[in-house]
Amino acid sequence: MYVDVAVCLPLSRTFIYRADEPVPIGCRVVVPFRKREVEGFVVGLSDRAPDRDIHPIKETIDRVPLLRPQIFELCRWISEYYVSPFGEVLKAALPPGISAKHVERGLKPATTHSSEQLGSHVAAGFSPRPVLTQDQNRALDAIRNKNGFHPLLLHGVTGSGKTEIYMQAAEHFLARGKSSLILVPEIGLTPQLTDRFSERFSGKTAILHSSLTKRQRIDEWLRIHAGEAPIVIGTRSAVFAPLENIGLIVVDEEHETSYKQDEVPRYNARDTAVMRAKLAGAAAVLGSATPSMESFRNAESDKYKHIGLTKRVEDRPLPHVEIVNMREEYLAEGKQVVFSRRLLEAIAIRLERREQTMILLNRRGYAAFLLCRRCGFTFQCSSCSVALTYHRGIDKLLCHYCGLARRPPARCPECDSEYIHYVGEGTERLEAELKAIYPDARIGRVDRDTMRHMRDFERVLGGFRSGDIDILVGTQMIAKGHDFPLVTLVGVIGADAPLSLPDFRAAERTFQLLTQVAGRSGRGDQPGEVIIQSYFPDHYTFQLAVTQRFEDFYARESRYRKAMFYPPFTALAGVMVTDRDPGRAANLARDVGEFLDSLRSNAVRILGPAPAPLERIKRVHRHQLLIKSSSRATLHQMLERLQIYIEEKKIGPTRVLIDVDPVSLL
Ligand code: ADP
Ligand code: ZN
Ligand code: ZN
Repeated sequence: MYVDVAVCLPLSRTFIYRADEPVPIGCRVVVPFRKREVEGFVVGLSDRAPDRDIHPIKETIDRVPLLRPQIFELCRWISEYYVSPFGEVLKAALPPGISAKHVERGLKPATTHSSEQLGSHVAAGFSPRPVLTQDQNRALDAIRNKNGFHPLLLHGVTGSGKTEIYMQAAEHFLARGKSSLILVPEIGLTPQLTDRFSERFSGKTAILHSSLTKRQRIDEWLRIHAGEAPIVIGTRSAVFAPLENIGLIVVDEEHETSYKQDEVPRYNARDTAVMRAKLAGAAAVLGSATPSMESFRNAESDKYKHIGLTKRVEDRPLPHVEIVNMREEYLAEGKQVVFSRRLLEAIAIRLERREQTMILLNRRGYAAFLLCRRCGFTFQCSSCSVALTYHRGIDKLLCHYCGLARRPPARCPECDSEYIHYVGEGTERLEAELKAIYPDARIGRVDRDTMRHMRDFERVLGGFRSGDIDILVGTQMIAKGHDFPLVTLVGVIGADAPLSLPDFRAAERTFQLLTQVAGRSGRGDQPGEVIIQSYFPDHYTFQLAVTQRFEDFYARESRYRKAMFYPPFTALAGVMVTDRDPGRAANLARDVGEFLDSLRSNAVRILGPAPAPLERIKRVHRHQLLIKSSSRATLHQMLERLQIYIEEKKIGPTRVLIDVDPVSLL
């Protein structure tokens, strides 16, 4: 017999091999390929002899396929939609390193659980359930009272009780013998969600995240496969968890960009989750306080059912948001200051009242960059097109992209002057300044410099929760999901920076961050306050962040996206061309551009090639093309032709990167 094999290489086509014994579809095999031996997946069978000489397969790795048929189908969809080689997608769907031996030891024959068996698990959790609010009940009904595939956008302000809805929905399905998959952007940033699930569904949950060892990952995978953990919580790749009989898939904080994988296969786990729910005939719940433009558009056009939760539980008010104009601050103080008078006063009041403050600044380090005041020289990374950030604790200039570290010089290397000036601030500097202003306050800092391990993070957050810290300074790591009832003030420093990024999603990201961080305030009995410092207080993003009315932001932002032909009103793909040599990068980008032009149709607009905003990272030069199309099908055909062109010209898969629905254009 003959088998069609998708090899685990960046190739879009499959290859035929001879098999002496039948190999089921989905099994892994080792095949000879261009003088090498490579792993691949059997993706088709045939009895008919092809008219060419056909090599035999070398070895069969699995006797039974490890991927469930639905996941196999899901991978096929990813491969087509994201123009990613099928073999590589299938490989990404299995835990790395899983072998036949693990499976023999741990893989029980796939059983379908009777509902009684699973239903009995429900009694395992004893934690009390709160009485749901009217809004929560309405949402839960919409999830439960419909059979088969149905996608919903659970659009609830921060603190409206979305997690409680997820849990009660999962409980509902569990009682009917169905499993649930809960996707979260990052486990470390949402420990409370994980804890709450583990507590309520004690012994029935599996948690899949990036800090598991290979072995732990395989063990969890086997447990899930055996049906021992019908509730799975995990990050991006958990979308491939080998659950059977899924009733519910939740994507929490669905707008988060970490759902998009930034290497091959470049899938978005949110959209993949919706597709998985479709294949499984399950409910798909996308939850967020600030939905992505894409998901809200889907709700607006009735592809997703929109469920709004407009009030916080127990009638806690939304925080009061205020913008401080930093230009006025400059005039009043006669110099650039880090903290406005308004924010300093507000912090002092919190210290007096023994309430807590969070200060967000999305830049780690001490100073943004070093500038020679005499000749204007700035210190750039020699490998990347970015400025080096000064870190005072270690007294080094660091590149945040490649890790290059240098001692800061005492004199300018260009003009030899001594007027070296530290410009802009990072979290390290905020902490130092706060210590100087409030010597008695207990201050904690959370960023990638202070948080080397997950346990550092947990320790600081634990200290904050128990009241051992008065002021917590941090990067966006502190903006998400946490529930600190004593926080009544949130300050946002440098809120303008993301707006100046050359990315059409800049306003959306800023609005999301401001709304999320504002959501950290006033979750207890005391109302919360948010102070945002900006040099452009009139920008619509800030004005709308004050009202926290997402719909208004969506309407305003939609006008811009429509006018400029950007998602969610246009299908978008990015093509990144890279090379270590700047000339070769530019030439290849031009060739790719000409090839795409030759396919041009009326439904398509091509931008570029042009140097990417970050033109160089780790010594690699990057040029970029953007393809926009009113027709997804046309865009798709074009990308498939491009993929074939890349393979036929043997350009090398890492030199031309196709990204469907990109989340970042830097
Ligand atoms: P979200 O996920 O929307 O931010 P959570 O589900 O975390 O909101 O709920 C916020 C807080 O309110 C949590 O501490 C949660 O335990 C509590 N909570 C949720 N639902 C209710 C309810 N119906 N009654 C009382 N407290 C609730
Ligand atoms: Zn100089
Ligand atoms: Zn660098």
